[in-house]
Amino acid sequence: MKIHDITAPIYKGMPVYKNKPEKQPDIQTKTNAHVTESRISMDVHTGTHVDAPLHMINDGETIETIAIENLVRPCKVVDVTDAEEKISKSDIENAGIEAGDFILFKTKNSFDTEFNFDFIYVAEDAANYLAEKKITGVGIDALGIERAQEGHPTHRALMSQGVIIMEGLQLKDVEAGDYFMVAAPLKIEGTDASPARVLLLEGLSY
Ligand SMILES: [Zn+2]
Repeated sequence: MKIHDITAPIYKGMPVYKNKPEKQPDIQTKTNAHVTESRISMDVHTGTHVDAPLHMINDGETIETIAIENLVRPCKVVDVTDAEEKISKSDIENAGIEAGDFILFKTKNSFDTEFNFDFIYVAEDAANYLAEKKITGVGIDALGIERAQEGHPTHRALMSQGVIIMEGLQLKDVEAGDYFMVAAPLKIEGTDASPARVLLLEGLSY
């Protein structure tokens, strides 16, 4: 069995959304002669993370309510590295996406080494298509699933249908295909997102 770790490392100076300094994680390590302990302060949307509906919907569900069975399960990596600017419905309607799927989009973003203000995102028409297909979840290799769309229609289309959103994946070394995914957000109560370790297992029989 091969394990692909598609999680972004968390460190001071890591790529953060729009390079905003206040989104940098702050990690303080203290050591006395015997014991080392670190304290971390960071945005819950840091690096690889899962969004909860509360992020965009007032009174929406929070991160710990997402059923783990929907995050530890088979998934499909779909290659859309040819997409320019955004992923549109026309880029994905022949990708064999079916009801119940958990889809991870591999785009040009996976080859960026720093935050790209022109990152590829999921356009509103593609989000509506995914929501109508009744997929379980969608992940992307950018720190946002949308940008430059007034009113955040992509987040809203997906979240209003209960579609789980995962952001900040690193898919450079992963080929399109079927995998078993282990996505484990921290069990933090009441928040709108959580960083997650996300692994793709290849060659696992289940
Ligand atoms: Zn987020």
